[in-house]
Amino acid sequence: MADHVIALDQGTTSTRAIVFDAEGRIVASAAREHAQIFPRAGWVEHDADEIWQNAAGVLEAALAEAGLVAADIAALGITNQRETAVVWDRRTGRPVHNAIVWQDTRTQVLLDRLGGEGGDRDRFADETGLPLATYFSASKVTWILDHVEGARDAAEAGDLLFGTIDSWLVWKLTGGARHITDVTNASRTLLMDLASLAWSERMTETFRIPAAMLPEIVSSSAVLGEITEVDALRGVAIAGILGDQQAATFGQAAFDAGESKNTYGTGNFLLVGTGERIVRSQHGLLTTVAYRIGDEPAHYAVEGSIAVTGSLVQWLRDNLGLISEASEVQTLAETVPDNGGAYFVPAFSGLFAPYWRPDARGALVGLTRYVTRAHIARAALEATAFQTLDVITAVEADTGKPLEELRVDGGMTRNGLLMQFQADVLQIPVVRPEIVETTALGAAYAAGLATGVWTSFEELRGHWREGERWEPQMDAEERDRRVRMWQKAVRRSFDWVDTDARILMGTAD
Ligand code: ADP
Repeated sequence: MADHVIALDQGTTSTRAIVFDAEGRIVASAAREHAQIFPRAGWVEHDADEIWQNAAGVLEAALAEAGLVAADIAALGITNQRETAVVWDRRTGRPVHNAIVWQDTRTQVLLDRLGGEGGDRDRFADETGLPLATYFSASKVTWILDHVEGARDAAEAGDLLFGTIDSWLVWKLTGGARHITDVTNASRTLLMDLASLAWSERMTETFRIPAAMLPEIVSSSAVLGEITEVDALRGVAIAGILGDQQAATFGQAAFDAGESKNTYGTGNFLLVGTGERIVRSQHGLLTTVAYRIGDEPAHYAVEGSIAVTGSLVQWLRDNLGLISEASEVQTLAETVPDNGGAYFVPAFSGLFAPYWRPDARGALVGLTRYVTRAHIARAALEATAFQTLDVITAVEADTGKPLEELRVDGGMTRNGLLMQFQADVLQIPVVRPEIVETTALGAAYAAGLATGVWTSFEELRGHWREGERWEPQMDAEERDRRVRMWQKAVRRSFDWVDTDARILMGTAD
């Protein structure tokens, strides 16, 4: 009987498939990492074909591990790294360039130009909910059209398609039958009008992106297509799509206005629902679509996006060789009682929320001969907690309401030292649910709601169970002192990228 749902979670570092049963429990899963391609300082790419191969592979592997067949699966839900842009040829199905990843900063100069004389990065925020930043998809597409030979002509002729990763995967899964993207992903492109939920002509003209390339914008939860290209799942409906952070919010059953979650992955993303209202932040948060069920009105959220949190741990592992796997960062940090005076501001892609400073770059400050690798490991973990504090301060300033506790999920929440420090700097409890795979669960929920596996939000809320809780313990004065040191460190990271730095990085034009 078709009472299971399979979720495909295409993240920045890996692609996972998870089979859930009707109670929302994990039955089986499979995962594969893909290559991170760094052609130059500030550039980050993925091979979209590799991502598709991994996706097909993990779907088959998870289904096999569950001992199930296509007839047992009611639907597939997709969730994905957002903003990352793929442009491919509709005739050959081949990408014309590597996918340009959300962290990539190569298009800063173009965005500076679009900001006009006054450098107004909020010029289009009224319509899109977003500042002009390299983070979002639009400028990445413009870059591909401007730099790949023949791409612009082919796009004008209707031969090239653009999509975020959800769009690319659906197109591949359906053998090119469906070129769609859900409203949550579309709300991250800088091309969608938040109120009408349609592509904005003003924005596509601003970025010189031919309308013929754009996918159709669809609901997050609806029957959207049928899998034809993965044999083991042939005929299964694709019935849910949510960007990864919206999916995590959905998976935490935070459906209503005022409900929130914070995900600790490659970066950190805090979302607070605002119901059917579009709320404009005065404090550096984005406005985004949270979900749309069938033909119902869309629900919105404000979001605090932090570019670098877990990826700083990867950087300690891959670039410094300080640790050999991510979990060792905790063991190393635990060998010292504090950060020894070191503060690490990981502004590798500039600083996102709440600062939006593209001119910032990473800074490790407060160094003395006393500081060891263990202090640096600790400072790296603390950076995640401090950046989260900055975002929550912005949320509280916007909403006028203090947060009572923080619901968390994501890979970094396995780190107990970090979670305790987070509770300490926020001075509120931090709570993790039993199922930490909330991103995949959210995509499964969207697909299961559209196909009758689940029938109401109430039913899904009933699945949520508390797994672990951290209570604040740090002395208030000590906490305040450390926060002041962090704020000083943040200021040290500003104003780094100027013409000299751009020339050194090879991104002067
Ligand atoms: P994503 O979905 O963005 O790919 P995940 O939720 O899988 O990310 O989280 C992976 C991130 O968490 C990686 O950046 C990794 O460095 C970090 N991470 C994993 N385990 C730990 C740990 N024990 N302590 C700190 N960071 C960790």
